[in-house]
Amino acid sequence: MLTEKTAVITGGSRGIGKAIALKMAECGANIVIVYAGNTAAAEETCEQIKSLGVKAKAYQCDVSDFTQTEQTVHSIISEFGGIDILVNNAGIVKDGLMLSMKEEDFDAVLDTNLKGAFHMIKHTYRQFMKRRSGRIINITSVSGITGNSGQTNYSSAKAGMIGLTKSVAKELAGRNITCNAIAPGFIDTDMTSGLSDQLKQAAVEAIPLKRMGTPRDIANLAAFLAGDEAGYITGEVIKIDGGLCM
Ligand code: NAP
Repeated sequence: MLTEKTAVITGGSRGIGKAIALKMAECGANIVIVYAGNTAAAEETCEQIKSLGVKAKAYQCDVSDFTQTEQTVHSIISEFGGIDILVNNAGIVKDGLMLSMKEEDFDAVLDTNLKGAFHMIKHTYRQFMKRRSGRIINITSVSGITGNSGQTNYSSAKAGMIGLTKSVAKELAGRNITCNAIAPGFIDTDMTSGLSDQLKQAAVEAIPLKRMGTPRDIANLAAFLAGDEAGYITGEVIKIDGGLCM
């Protein structure tokens, strides 16, 4: 159970982040979601969370912005009294082969996916240290482990998140704070909805369990890692990919 805990989930308004927010709310946590610009989706998710009987609030904040994230973290701490669980889930893709990839598309993906996680950890670090407890969960990707053609920017960011996870795990272990990463495979969300049916079918063919994952598949592990029973797990990267990258 996560009763009396406050969980901050970046990108918590849609897709995997929303499923994590709802699952943690079902486990009793108060939920803060951080989103980029889709206020309607964020408000709808907040209403769904509140209907589970916990507190919920959405903050519009670009995680790639150092100052915005600093201000947002301060506001969350003063309103909720502290942060027990941080899930760095906000992410974007700007796919393209290396030959045609624009510098700004490389930078945008690194800034949101990798630096976004750095910003959120950096600004919550001191309060985690003072509390001498906490859970940090970073949503990386199997692309960061295996690489993926057409995703040099995304794979680099997600591989970077793995290094970030392990280094933060080592720095904070002495304060009873764990930091782990979840590496999803092919999950059915808005991020993958734009792919052609042909590409999706080929992907499913390659997955031993013969289906795309659901956001709930990821949320179940995130909630476990956030709980007391996962207190001896840190610095891990756990794949949830239907066996794709075994
Ligand atoms: P999604 O459905 O596209 O949702 C993305 C979420 O991130 C939205 O809540 C969005 O907010 C938020 N966001 C994007 N840029 C942001 C920024 N600069 N600042 C704050 N929030 C931002 O994505 P998803 O498929 O659920 O993916 C979630 C995470 O899982 C990502 O890190 C992704 O890389 C990772 N992942 C996904 C898959 C997959 O197959 N779907 C596989 C492996 C890993 P708005 O609603 O306001 O835009």
